[in-house]
Amino acid sequence: MNFNQAQFVVSAANLKACPLDSLAEVAFAGRSNAGKSSAINTITGQNRLARISKTPGRTQLINFFALNEGRHLVDLPGYGFAKVPLKVKDKWQRELEQYLRQRDALVGLILLSDIRHPRKEFDRMMIDWAVQSDLPLHILLTKSDKLKRGAAQNTLLSVQKELAALDNGSVQLFSSLKNVGVDEARAKLSDWLSSPNMIDEVENEAEGPAE
Ligand code: GDP
Repeated sequence: MNFNQAQFVVSAANLKACPLDSLAEVAFAGRSNAGKSSAINTITGQNRLARISKTPGRTQLINFFALNEGRHLVDLPGYGFAKVPLKVKDKWQRELEQYLRQRDALVGLILLSDIRHPRKEFDRMMIDWAVQSDLPLHILLTKSDKLKRGAAQNTLLSVQKELAALDNGSVQLFSSLKNVGVDEARAKLSDWLSSPNMIDEVENEAEGPAE
């Protein structure tokens, strides 16, 4: 997967407005300030890519970044500290939920969680939606440089334990500042975005319709 070629393509206000030509996409979600923009920039090796999602008018939108061959990274709106009226937050939440539950092209969810504050309400909600939608989930415990090695490992192990009950959940340490876990995160994305189903589809298309 060519992460360095990622390019912003479009912002969608809701599920209906999402591009129709996406073959596979992985969504990134996190409370505001979790380190999501930094992680997207680090993973794609582009300093300013995710800043697009933070420009006025785009913060409540679903932002699409194209990789190669119809593959996308999707930056989902984060909130938490954002002082927005409850009504706006509810609407946002409904749109997010709809996207996560119904988006056909979605093959996995990356949840970014500050290693110093895991298990907040937003994270639990996202995990629940992933479970209910049978969506593979991978958690990045961000800013891992903020904790000493032992403490970071302890948090990693305790989240791993919680995820053990899920069919398809995993977690890793991540630091944009110190470049921790970047290859591991890229490997997970590549794995999801080139899943066997999709290779089948491409092969079938090449061979023509089955008898
Ligand atoms: P977002 O709101 O989730 O997109 O978060 P940002 O990527 O904008 O990061 C929020 C704050 O955390 C910024 O001040 C970043 O500099 C800081 N930050 C992000 N990643 C790291 C990291 O890996 N280590 C440390 N120490 N700080 C980070």
